[in-house]
Amino acid sequence: MDDIIQLLPDHVANQIAAGEVIQRPASAVKELLENAVDASADQITLILKDAGRTSIQVVDNGKGMSYSDARMSFERHATSKIRSADDLFKISTKGFRGEALASIAAIAHVELRTRRPMDELGNRLEIEGSEVKAQEHIQHNEGTSISVKNLFYNVPARRNFLKGDKVELRHVIDEFERVALAHPDRVFRFFHNEVELFQLPEGNLRQRLVNVFGKNLNDKLVPVEEDAHFMKISGYVVKPEGAKRKRGEQFFFVNRRFIKSGFLHHAVSDAFKELLAPDQYPGYFLFLDVDPAFIDVNIHPTKTEIKFEDEHSVHAVLRSAVKKSLGQYNIAPTLDFNIDPELAHMNFGNRSLPNAPTIEINPNYNPFNSSESNGNGHVSYQKPNTSGWENLFPPSEEEWKEQEELPLEAESGQARSKLLYQMDEKYILTHLKSGMLAIHQQRAHERILFEQFHKTLSSQSPLSQQLLFEQTLSFSAGDSEIIRSRMGDLSALGFDIEEFGSRDFVVRGVPSGVDVRSLQRAFDEMLEAWSNQKDKAGTEHIDRLARTAAAGACIKKGQALSYEEMEHLIDELFACQMPYVSPGGKPTVITISTEDLDKQFNA
Ligand code: ADP
Ligand code: MG
Repeated sequence: MDDIIQLLPDHVANQIAAGEVIQRPASAVKELLENAVDASADQITLILKDAGRTSIQVVDNGKGMSYSDARMSFERHATSKIRSADDLFKISTKGFRGEALASIAAIAHVELRTRRPMDELGNRLEIEGSEVKAQEHIQHNEGTSISVKNLFYNVPARRNFLKGDKVELRHVIDEFERVALAHPDRVFRFFHNEVELFQLPEGNLRQRLVNVFGKNLNDKLVPVEEDAHFMKISGYVVKPEGAKRKRGEQFFFVNRRFIKSGFLHHAVSDAFKELLAPDQYPGYFLFLDVDPAFIDVNIHPTKTEIKFEDEHSVHAVLRSAVKKSLGQYNIAPTLDFNIDPELAHMNFGNRSLPNAPTIEINPNYNPFNSSESNGNGHVSYQKPNTSGWENLFPPSEEEWKEQEELPLEAESGQARSKLLYQMDEKYILTHLKSGMLAIHQQRAHERILFEQFHKTLSSQSPLSQQLLFEQTLSFSAGDSEIIRSRMGDLSALGFDIEEFGSRDFVVRGVPSGVDVRSLQRAFDEMLEAWSNQKDKAGTEHIDRLARTAAAGACIKKGQALSYEEMEHLIDELFACQMPYVSPGGKPTVITISTEDLDKQFNA
């Protein structure tokens, strides 16, 4: 029998290898931009025709190439970035495989022009389908310009597989954004069919984000900063009200390399969990800096995946860092959303508000211990210090003391430490050093109960208060059935409840903090939610139960509150981990500064 195995001709083998690295114009753009970054260019221009199908050109002012390096750069596995296998563990460049230029040259008409700063003459090289057509010395600016024409001219299968220009351009823009966001300290420009799509001056990350995604993003960015010994996290998440109903503005960079990672995404989503509706996606631009020895970027040829040595710790640290930032974020811009339409035209100066000082919520709160077991199998929860919430806002303690000396009306004969005023049985108003604070009583209490329920359910130690006078509640036959099926949940929440005839239940105790004045209503609301819910297991069950119970049992608008009740509510609210939003992500408090008022009065 004849032998049937043959070696593929070089040009065919090259085209196949190229297909792995270069699948569409966007992949070539990515490789060329990354090469420019690796060459330390600080001005990088991308020029495209027909979404890259006709031509792609990248011009940089980086370190250029010598005559023989220019020739070498198109050889497969030719790289200046690593020398030995050991170097793989300390990679700080984007490229290192030495495949990109070889791959591009196998499937396109390429022209390279380059000059190193120390050379008087640069050189020009022309290469087509891996074949060098010409190389010569030329005059050239410092840096490199590579133009790639007629991509896939010799691979019709790939060319036919390309989508329309709109789709291909979108892919290119995605790649461009990823590189541009990773390097805000460099100037990037992007022209498509002679139209300038991006002009990005050098700046910090915030400025780069605004330049790429638009001014509206600026108010919605919440900084994230964390320094764990094995990893530094920096960047921004987008406030819940800026969340999108589609995926999109989600960027992770590990050592300035754009990365897609399900488990990193999960960590951030988890931190946002209580703040977003189920169909909303969090936005984030997060930079992780890790010792390259701890990661393996080698697992995927196009290198947008990554493997961490200790995924568990990375997940935990990232999640707490984001949670902490969300908890601390400045509340002033909440004026931006959910604004009463009547007030909308008044413009509380929200746009021009200066960045308020960062707020430290609870200095003793350590996100890394929050839900950890204390060693003997019990979850420990330390109640945060509830006094001194005023310090969360600009005025200092001394300033509050001054306020205390004002002659305040004393309802029960005692001197009041703060002025509190309930407006419309809905809002609690109080003063700050320079301005005022309005608290949404229902959402505030919902937040308090939610966190309390979450803790008691997780630790299985309900906080219950016995009633002086037991209460009897009556329900329909269907609702009674639901209650019977929820007896375990109810007692886990802290209700002491017992069946009393087929449709009556007697309540002897309620979770602490629950207002007994509206118990029937609380049950009716929980029942309504339960009748529409399917059972879930584990932490999801806890989360949902805590939400449902908090929404049902919280005090509602229309409930008059005594001074003590208001004071207590405010103290409890600011002892929460995330005081500024309800479990549904709506603001619980807003501040109106004297400056805002001045503006309104043109004073
Ligand atoms: P890699 O980036 O993995 O090393 P490439 O095929 O992308 O492989 O590039 C091969 C080599 O060509 C690089 O290692 C680098 O030395 C050189 N090179 C590529 N692009 C540029 C550029 N824009 N400026 C200077 N040198 C470059
Ligand atoms: Mg490269």
